[in-house]
Amino acid sequence: MKSAQQVLQNVFGYHDFRPGQASIVEQVLAGRDSLVLMPTGGGKSLCYQVPAMLLDGLTVVVSPLISLMKDQVDALLRNGVNAAYLNSTLSWEQTQALFGQLIRREIKLLYVSPERLLHGDFLSNFESWQVKLLAIDEAHCISQWGHDFRPEYSALGQIKARFSQLPVIALTATADQTTREDILSRLQLQNPFLYQASFDRPNIRYTVQEKYRPWQQLQDFVKAHHDECGIIYCTSRRRVEELASKLTGQGYSAAAYHARLGLAERQRVQEAFQRDELSIVVATVAFGMGIDKPNVRYVIHYDIPRNIEAYYQETGRGGRDGLPTEAVMFYDPSDAARIRRMIDETSDERQRRVESHKFNAMVAFAEAQTCRRQVLLNYFGDYHAEPCGNCDVCLDPPQRYDGLEDAQKALSCVYRLNQSYGIGYVIEVLRGSLNQRIVEQGHQQLSTHGIGKNRSHDHWMSVLRQLIHLGLLTQNITRGSVLQLTQAARAVLRGDVALELAVPRLDVASKRHKPVT
Ligand code: ADP
Ligand code: ZN
Repeated sequence: MKSAQQVLQNVFGYHDFRPGQASIVEQVLAGRDSLVLMPTGGGKSLCYQVPAMLLDGLTVVVSPLISLMKDQVDALLRNGVNAAYLNSTLSWEQTQALFGQLIRREIKLLYVSPERLLHGDFLSNFESWQVKLLAIDEAHCISQWGHDFRPEYSALGQIKARFSQLPVIALTATADQTTREDILSRLQLQNPFLYQASFDRPNIRYTVQEKYRPWQQLQDFVKAHHDECGIIYCTSRRRVEELASKLTGQGYSAAAYHARLGLAERQRVQEAFQRDELSIVVATVAFGMGIDKPNVRYVIHYDIPRNIEAYYQETGRGGRDGLPTEAVMFYDPSDAARIRRMIDETSDERQRRVESHKFNAMVAFAEAQTCRRQVLLNYFGDYHAEPCGNCDVCLDPPQRYDGLEDAQKALSCVYRLNQSYGIGYVIEVLRGSLNQRIVEQGHQQLSTHGIGKNRSHDHWMSVLRQLIHLGLLTQNITRGSVLQLTQAARAVLRGDVALELAVPRLDVASKRHKPVT
């Protein structure tokens, strides 16, 4: 009998297995269920393609994306492997012809969409086709707790119940502990072999920037990277449209991508991006799976994502070629507060718990004072003892300063304004603006008017946000987000306590942030 090593060389033309592949192949050939966690590009496909060549029968591969199926099958055919796919794009005649080949056992690997697999009595063919292995790609799609739940995946759990002897290999590039457990239990994998490759993508530099004037920040970044390709993720379709048209207006080759666009337009954008005819895609989470472009040099998150798995996956679309790549997030704590309120309103108790766990992890990443890569990888159970040296925190550790005086100025200004105004207005007063509204209300008379004019708008924005964070101020949502003092603010105003604040992190274009004074 041929060995896995021979198949690797003779069929696929590779000399060595990558880390993990050999042991996974061995377990699969021994008939054991397995769950494989490997980053995109890690080499998951060979984990079932090599066994498929050695098993005496058919390997069925469940894959969610029709376009990827075709690519995979074409690549296999080029290597001389009898592979085929079955999905809604085939005509009735083509399907019949394929069924004939399957019965004659002329096919080694069959790619099929989950809908098709569970359609009608498809499964009843498994015995006559001699199905020996089932591979489930993008296995996180089965989990409601994952970031990309697909209802058509849920029914895949039936398969083990029906064919308890059929080995199943589930593969995914992103799954935290909760999602992993959910995959195992939903697919009913028995005594599974678990393989987890490192989630680290060392060439990606993670940076979080305070979101204070996002459009300006975005422009600065894009300008500094004008000859490179990137993806900009936003949470709302409206913002996607807006940014894409503003960038286009400035002469960038940018396009919008979201779920409401027609299929043809989405394909056009994706293909143009793939072929380097388009530099920037501004997108919602809908722009995702199936993008396999090596030279995405930056991924910007204009808004904080709801889910750290999604964040990992989205930033992971950058730098597939291994070259230095930037992952930049604009972070505004009030975005986080809004998302948290939405999650709190989720009626399903379990879902609320899971979502808030994942979101808390996302916020912890955004607010990290220690190596961000460690925070991210630890979340996925991928422990690294040393700071990475390639994130904003490592490159430029947060600096703190004695913030008591700033805090007192800000808090007393809020107090003088009768705790009835929002952040923007408080900053205007602090900085001594004489705008119409201030003059109309007579606020230029306040003792706190202009006491902060030596600092920038952005500096005060950061200070006020930190005070909110520290629980010294609250934003009263029912009253138009006006700032109000908390009990704890009294001690600060009296100067009874010490108070350190972080020097604002405002400038991402240069790696060295100077204190704003
Ligand atoms: P994934 O499905 O994990 O995203 P793929 O299976 O598509 O990754 O593999 C990514 C790339 O790595 C492919 O181009 C593949 O041919 C290549 N590759 C995988 N395994 C090996 C190996 N053992 N030696 C050399 N190249 C490999
Ligand atoms: Zn780091």
